[in-house]
Amino acid sequence: MADGSDLAASRIRLVLSALQTRMGAQVSTVGSVREEHSHGEALDASRLPEAVVFAESTDDVSAVLKLCHEHRVPVVAFGAGTSVEGHVTPPEHAISLDLSRMTEIVQFNPEDLDCRVQAGLTRQGLNAQIRDCGLFFPVDPGGEATLGGMCATRASGTAAVRYGTIKENVLGLTVVLATGEVIRTGGRVRKSSTGYDLTALFIGSEGTLGVITEVQLRLYGLPESVAAAVCQFETVDAAVRTAVEAIQYGIPVARVELADEMQMEACIRYSHLDELRALPTLFFEFAGGPGAVREQVEATEEIARENGGLGFAWADTPEERSRLWKARHDAYWATRALEPGALVISTDCIVPISKLAELILGARDDIAASGMRAAMVGHVGDGNFHTLILAEDNAEGRRRILDLDRKIVGRALAMGGSCSGEHGVGLGKQEFLETEHGAGALRVMRALKMAMDPRGILNPGKLLPEGEVYRG
Ligand SMILES: Cc1cc2nc3c(=O)[nH]c(=O)nc-3n(C[C@H](O)[C@H](O)[C@H](O)COP(=O)(O)OP(=O)(O)OC[C@H]3O[C@@H](n4cnc5c(N)ncnc54)[C@H](O)[C@@H]3O)c2cc1C
Repeated sequence: MADGSDLAASRIRLVLSALQTRMGAQVSTVGSVREEHSHGEALDASRLPEAVVFAESTDDVSAVLKLCHEHRVPVVAFGAGTSVEGHVTPPEHAISLDLSRMTEIVQFNPEDLDCRVQAGLTRQGLNAQIRDCGLFFPVDPGGEATLGGMCATRASGTAAVRYGTIKENVLGLTVVLATGEVIRTGGRVRKSSTGYDLTALFIGSEGTLGVITEVQLRLYGLPESVAAAVCQFETVDAAVRTAVEAIQYGIPVARVELADEMQMEACIRYSHLDELRALPTLFFEFAGGPGAVREQVEATEEIARENGGLGFAWADTPEERSRLWKARHDAYWATRALEPGALVISTDCIVPISKLAELILGARDDIAASGMRAAMVGHVGDGNFHTLILAEDNAEGRRRILDLDRKIVGRALAMGGSCSGEHGVGLGKQEFLETEHGAGALRVMRALKMAMDPRGILNPGKLLPEGEVYRG
């Protein structure tokens, strides 16, 4: 009698042969393509999928899921593979379903400030196409992510403090369910009080409840005037206090990002920010009408001065502004470049903003006690920051990074925070879910998963904890 593994292997052979007949060259079993789809970024978890299927339409996705459902073959949706918690690492005998060829703008409604796009389009790709109409989409995770992947991980970025996360900026979705059935959720209107909010259910579901093929997005007018500035401080505490006070006073900053001394050392080297020093730094952006921007700048400068800020360095031209923000977005690569070959894992905690200084200072104590090198960078206007921890790329290095991560996450949870403000759960954060949400909420999540994917084919093993539970 065939064992479980033989059975799974024979099922996938059957599915692949049917898919090759239907989709031809859209199905790849080439080693390098499978390798590219065997992992995401950061977490060193990797396994080859048996094949990669490149979907070009909702119908393609539906056909793949229908077959996989019938033959119980696991499917991992893949956008750009920039997720950092092992989200796209396939289980055994699985197919990777790549949506990156689905890049059309399906509908563009500038008069209503919305559009409908295919899930494989990146936000950079979208913005390049709508910029000339004076519009933009603001959610900007650092990686070149797809909009479908951003929905699936409930992503955000530097502009969330002003415009919100992807959750606040998606009006509706087209989703293919585990059985291959296609549904639409939400619509084009700004609000609706009808029915369960299925759009919100799929946002952050990490490919475990359905595969998103289209996204209806809110758009915004490009601001009339934009100013960017950098302010350096002698201490991290002073920098965090400045950011928090600016938010508490209600200054509508467009972005405020923190980089600590080590992160600045990395950014200066990597992005040639030679005019700056390796000191705790805040990157600011202000946007609006020229008068409003001036008022915001003056009020923020005053707060920075009171906290010992070492003066504002202005980025006056659009080129200078994008150089600064590119440096901020490249912070992860800059830290990696400090020690090529080292293992780098990014923590991602968030707390209510009044607790942020306490958390960051506590995390710095934890880093010092661990004897490890770690850079801090954060969306401090939201109470969210990352610690990029470096260690030798071996089992002991990994264990030490995860021990430190656990300490920092433990502090955040004890302060009423979350173990992830934006990266999501994947494999890496599962152990914290019960402490964060409670056993009852997890039971409801499992019931939803069971109802929507009874054969467990959609990204199995992700998001819902199966192993050890963190108890503090
Ligand atoms: C340098 C760097 C900086 C980053 N900065 C940020 C940041 O500032 N903010 C932030 O939020 N994240 C950040 N990230 C993480 C990452 O960019 C986000 O998690 C992003 O949303 C992932 O999108 P993706 O297209 O790469 O998805 P993938 O990595 O391909 O997939 C992520 C998850 O979504 C699922 N999925 C993908 N597409 C679909 C779909 N169409 N339907 C259903 N499920 C799908 C996958 O199965 C997987 O579970 C950063 C990553 C890097 C490498």
